[in-house]
Amino acid sequence: MSLYGGIEAGGTKFVCAVGSDPDHVLDEIRFPTSRPEEALTQSIEFFRAHHAKTPLSGIGVAAFGPLDPNPASPTFGYITTTPKPHWAHTDVVGALKTALGLPVGFDTDVNGAALGEYRWGAAQGLNTFVYLTVGTGLGGGGMVGGRLIHGLVHPEMGHMRIPHDLNEDPYPGWCTYHGDCFEGLTCGPAIEARWSTSARDLPVNHPAWALEARYLALGLVNIITVLSPQRIVMGGGVMDQRQLFPMIRRNVTEILNGYIQTPALSNNIDEYIVPPGLGARAGVLGAIALAAAAAES
Ligand code: ADP
Ligand code: ZN
Repeated sequence: MSLYGGIEAGGTKFVCAVGSDPDHVLDEIRFPTSRPEEALTQSIEFFRAHHAKTPLSGIGVAAFGPLDPNPASPTFGYITTTPKPHWAHTDVVGALKTALGLPVGFDTDVNGAALGEYRWGAAQGLNTFVYLTVGTGLGGGGMVGGRLIHGLVHPEMGHMRIPHDLNEDPYPGWCTYHGDCFEGLTCGPAIEARWSTSARDLPVNHPAWALEARYLALGLVNIITVLSPQRIVMGGGVMDQRQLFPMIRRNVTEILNGYIQTPALSNNIDEYIVPPGLGARAGVLGAIALAAAAAES
């Protein structure tokens, strides 16, 4: 069984793991996303120690972005224009390749999680699906026709525009670029700013959740009409509020208004909009899946 290294490079924390699949994760460390040199050195030391004992076949990085996932580009493997202090224009893949001499897979956190869900989780057997995370930000990735979605760069589903009734919800939105884009209205920090309470502490029957479910459903309907995904997997800290799932499903049904006739939407919506099969491990297992894909190619 081949062994891989995976890095879930989040805006807040790094998770590094060594393993092969969900049942074989041998070791894991976590540390804050400090400065690039520091976080990458910590990751490299962790993998180097393992590699010396049992050789690793590849490394995978599922990272916050924006980033360059195009292997033909001169800045492939870089975190590019991120507003995160110190991290703009960081050559992540170059640093790992130079230090470890292994194949390195590199993609967005959400494309990584999508690949993990495809191999071992809630998207097995599908070829077109979306993985969304609603947490510090809102990100979306996934597959179309069996391939992770790339193009000009990578999807930025969090920054689509959705209807915002300022009379009902005067909160102007959290996004520094767009204010009330999809992420700006729905991410954890937006909920906290709108209601002046930690999202974790809002009671399950608080009106915050009905509004959140409505916005999330509006975004999902856009995704459904554009990509025609066979399933939508929703993770991230905000989706730990499990009461959101039935509310989102009801809103999606209502907004679509019967236009798309398919059993997945009419009878089985409970299996159409779902939490990650890999739970909170979707990110780091996705990075291991990216490593395996890089080693195989
Ligand atoms: P990240 O986005 O950094 O990967 P998370 O997905 O855990 O991390 O998102 C963190 C955000 O999600 C927090 O800022 C908080 O607003 C929100 N959050 C975390 N846990 C919960 C919870 N149980 N209920 C509601 N919101 C939560
Ligand atoms: Zn935005």
